[in-house]
Amino acid sequence: MSDGLTVTREMFDDVMVPNYAPGPVIPVRGQGSRVWDQQGREYVDLAGGIAVTGLGHAHPELVAALTEQAGNLWHLSNVLANEPAIRLAAKLVELTFADKVFFSNSGGEANEAAFKLARRYSWEHAGSHKHNIVACSNSFHGRTLFTVSVGGQQKYREGFEPVPGGIKHVPFNDIEALEAAIDDSTCAFVVEPIQGEGGVTPAKQEYLERARELCDQHQALLIFDEVQSGVGRTGELYAYVKYGVTPDILTTAKALGNGFPIGAMLTTDKVAKSLTVGTHGSTYGGNPLGCAVALKVMDIISQPQVLAGVQERHDLMVSGLQAINEKYDVFADVRGMGLLIGSQLNDKFQGKAKDFMTAALEEGVLALVAGPNVVRMAPSLIIPVEDIKEGLARFERAVAKVVASA
Ligand SMILES: *Cc1c(COP(=O)(O)O)cnc(C)c1O
Repeated sequence: MSDGLTVTREMFDDVMVPNYAPGPVIPVRGQGSRVWDQQGREYVDLAGGIAVTGLGHAHPELVAALTEQAGNLWHLSNVLANEPAIRLAAKLVELTFADKVFFSNSGGEANEAAFKLARRYSWEHAGSHKHNIVACSNSFHGRTLFTVSVGGQQKYREGFEPVPGGIKHVPFNDIEALEAAIDDSTCAFVVEPIQGEGGVTPAKQEYLERARELCDQHQALLIFDEVQSGVGRTGELYAYVKYGVTPDILTTAKALGNGFPIGAMLTTDKVAKSLTVGTHGSTYGGNPLGCAVALKVMDIISQPQVLAGVQERHDLMVSGLQAINEKYDVFADVRGMGLLIGSQLNDKFQGKAKDFMTAALEEGVLALVAGPNVVRMAPSLIIPVEDIKEGLARFERAVAKVVASA
């Protein structure tokens, strides 16, 4: 290191707040879908951060976009406009349903903006009684106090109460429950088209269609949290295109910056009007560095051949995982869309997803979990076929190891 300090994994526990429990090695370099740790050991990356590095590591065009911007201008604040932010917003407007964009630094902040906008819009158009947000059990929307409150996992709220009120939770994919929950006091229904953290569970087609109808009927806004499902992950630029159901507000982050922190909230002209001057903001949101990188990300990922490649890779990944399952009988289900794939463990391996992730790391492949019973994979959208094959071969050795020790 430049300051002469030799960094070890043990030091993490000495100097960091103990909210994370990172694995035993420290990667120091990445190229495409491979990374190397401090000891020079190489790994196939089937995790992509957590569905973040959609174009892999050190993509030359992204490195060029970042370094070029780094030599020009880092920051102005939102007191002045900057070119990369305007270019990126124009690109997002061109490529999606949206007319207007707000930039944040993360997915949680994009959702925070979405929820605040929904409240503000309803307050302006109907009055303060129309403030209820309906959200799904098991959903994940971020770690700020508002987003853990809207999120459908009690464990993320525990001990942080009192949390903001006016939030109702309904079981995901349950149309009747949604019909009962959305009424004239509802300002918004928020849903992940594919629940990511909750276990890689896609919404049913009829569910999202009915959600759109109910929101229209009760003048509530439909918010899609596409922080994980967006930016090409499903093989469409955003999952809403795949479903043919258009939200009023969409949030995006994770792969948008390919690892450079940036998020965005997209919306229509009509709804955007409620965020008048001074109602919301962010010091770093829309900064030139993040926007320059994200613009290049969108340029590349929106290319039809890149999106088409996601489906081919999906097929390879799923058939590979099913072949492993035929040999070892560990999964009850392999599901997901595009390159967001969840393998649900069967009854014999309940609660053991982390064991599979740990064994995978030992065998030289990065994988993820989504809750205690799902092994999740979210590799680069342009991962070479060779790396998929090698990654799955290593993952098979990891599965064999877990099965042997069970
Ligand atoms: C990761 C994630 C978030 C939170 O994003 P951060 O950048 O960690 O704040 C929100 N919603 C969904 C669906 C996510 O997957």
